[in-house]
Amino acid sequence: SPEIENKDEGFWRLSKLGVPVQKDPGKDFLGISDGLLEAIAKVLEFPVATMLPSEAFTVVRKSFDARKLLKEPKFVYTVDMDVKKLLNLEPRTWDFICQLEPKLGLIEHIPHERDSGDLISVIHDSKKIHEGPGFGEPGYQVHSESTKTKPKIAVVGSGPSGLFASLVLAELGADVTLIERGQAVEQRGRDIGALVVRRILQSESNFCFGEGGAGTWSDGKLVTRIGRNSDSVLAVMKTLVHFGAPANILVDGKPHLGTDRLIPLLRNFRQHLQDLGVTIKFGTRVDDLLVENEQVVGVRVSDARNEFHSDGQKLKYDAVVLAVGHSARDIYKMLLSYNVHMIPKDFAVGLRVEHPQEIINNIQYSALAAEVRKGRGKVPVADYKVVKYVDEVDKGTATSSRETSRSCYSFCMCPGGQVVLTSTNQSELCINGMSFSRRSSRWANAALVVTVTSKDFDSLQFHGPLAGVEFQREFERRAAIMGGGNFVVPAQTVADFLNNKLSETSLPTSSYRLGVKAANLHELFPAHVTEALQHSISMFDRELPGFISKDALLHGVETRTSSPVQISRDGDTYESVSLKGLYPIGEGAGYAGGIVSAAVDGLYAGFAVAKNLGLYEGGI
Ligand code: FAD
Repeated sequence: SPEIENKDEGFWRLSKLGVPVQKDPGKDFLGISDGLLEAIAKVLEFPVATMLPSEAFTVVRKSFDARKLLKEPKFVYTVDMDVKKLLNLEPRTWDFICQLEPKLGLIEHIPHERDSGDLISVIHDSKKIHEGPGFGEPGYQVHSESTKTKPKIAVVGSGPSGLFASLVLAELGADVTLIERGQAVEQRGRDIGALVVRRILQSESNFCFGEGGAGTWSDGKLVTRIGRNSDSVLAVMKTLVHFGAPANILVDGKPHLGTDRLIPLLRNFRQHLQDLGVTIKFGTRVDDLLVENEQVVGVRVSDARNEFHSDGQKLKYDAVVLAVGHSARDIYKMLLSYNVHMIPKDFAVGLRVEHPQEIINNIQYSALAAEVRKGRGKVPVADYKVVKYVDEVDKGTATSSRETSRSCYSFCMCPGGQVVLTSTNQSELCINGMSFSRRSSRWANAALVVTVTSKDFDSLQFHGPLAGVEFQREFERRAAIMGGGNFVVPAQTVADFLNNKLSETSLPTSSYRLGVKAANLHELFPAHVTEALQHSISMFDRELPGFISKDALLHGVETRTSSPVQISRDGDTYESVSLKGLYPIGEGAGYAGGIVSAAVDGLYAGFAVAKNLGLYEGGI
């Protein structure tokens, strides 16, 4: 049922406002429709909806809810109500409000103007405050900053964490060099084209490496588990809008961009960084750190496109921000050689399931499925999210249920998308999903994964900080062999996987462009992982009847769900606990999982590094 809460001065938040599909203009409309005004009037107990001034309301969130337990599918809104505008009414409406005053208690709230800045304007405003008195004013001092040499900072990796760290540092006045082993999006697009069409994998420019990081050729989902309305998440979202993302990502309950929108956004981001004086080195791989007196003083880089003419150049910096993502396994190894403190981290492995999108639309929407119309209809292309706990005690493999309960869940669901290859070398095979903004392909894919911990790594004799990396690699190699090489993916229908039976040679069609080959995926993972997957799929089918289908195809293997390692750092300074001058950030360092959380980590790290180097004095 709808809720109303006093958010802050002058604003009330109305949430869980349901508007039936027939009364809503559709998924792309983010204004105040008559249907929504009716829902608002109902919660305010205001007698005539049409008398409410629509300009007093702003849509904060809009989602589509087609859960079976509802009487009918509906759009669900969260709306902010500006009391100032609400009270600025014609006399009759005012009269109504006054009658409701004892219930609502609106009038005592003093309205105020709201800050709606993106990161760049927030930093600019804070700089204005910090600049202090101007020339000729009491307390004016010659500014030392212009005469001081700027601290030189290397940010390694141009994924979301590296980009946001660079942005904050450059805005705060650091001399930033952004070093990226992969290519700028223009060339990266050509390299990915060559991979998808001609099977040529560039080890340094692919779905994981290159401008924008792992999330560029992705679904661009901007959902996050770190608090959708927190200031930092909003700052990231508004900054994305500043660089060209559509403003509806600020409102949409499940915002996503799609690859086609991410590419121009990244170009604008790059241009802004260059305008701030950031030096960007694409095709440049960091191979080593320069360490003097137990402090990082720079990096050794090589030309990532030309191994044979690599010059091994040494570059000096005051600080090195390591934002390399979790596919940079060479970097983990290099860090180990300096005894940088790292610990193995739990993560999840599994398979990517793909259904015809129509099946998912029918499961989720029943009669409304016809409204989807390949992403152009009134309701969004259907997605799903499922999670189950599988207790291994039931199967007699452990002593205590608490210890052995495994979580099995769907992850990174891409409606209207495609399965893509995220390997970074020829002998390992792993996959993920991407989509374009319209989400109009014939398929819906999602990872179905099971949590794995140090116990699982130990059971395969993988020990030490990089045990999880070895665990991932093991299954990527097995998958490559099972596919028969050339990036062909081993696959099995969901129905056959449940019956432990090799699928017939004519598999259902897949969106994966490099080919699928029938294989028994039971031969891939240890039995307990396979059993957990089998068991959870049966449970998912109870929630989503029709999920088990001969047209649903499981693809192997999904291993890079999140980082298998955490590089230990100080909670305040973000500096490595074991090596001064090194700042591990983002997903690869084990502090984020997804585009938005990686960006937020980069943002905080930017402020922390700036503070350590004396560029910034405020709170973080
Ligand atoms: P990354 O994005 O991995 O960036 C690291 C960068 O560092 C890379 O560009 C790499 O080339 C560079 N680098 C590595 N080593 C070196 C070196 N030695 N020298 C120089 N540069 C180096 N998340 C979502 O939230 N929503 C999604 O829809 C989504 N879809 C995805 C789809 C795919 C296909 C993939 C692969 C991932 C997807 N993710 C998604 C996950 C998301 O992309 C990551 O969580 C996020 O990009 C992590 O950001 P990061 O900055 O920590 O690292």
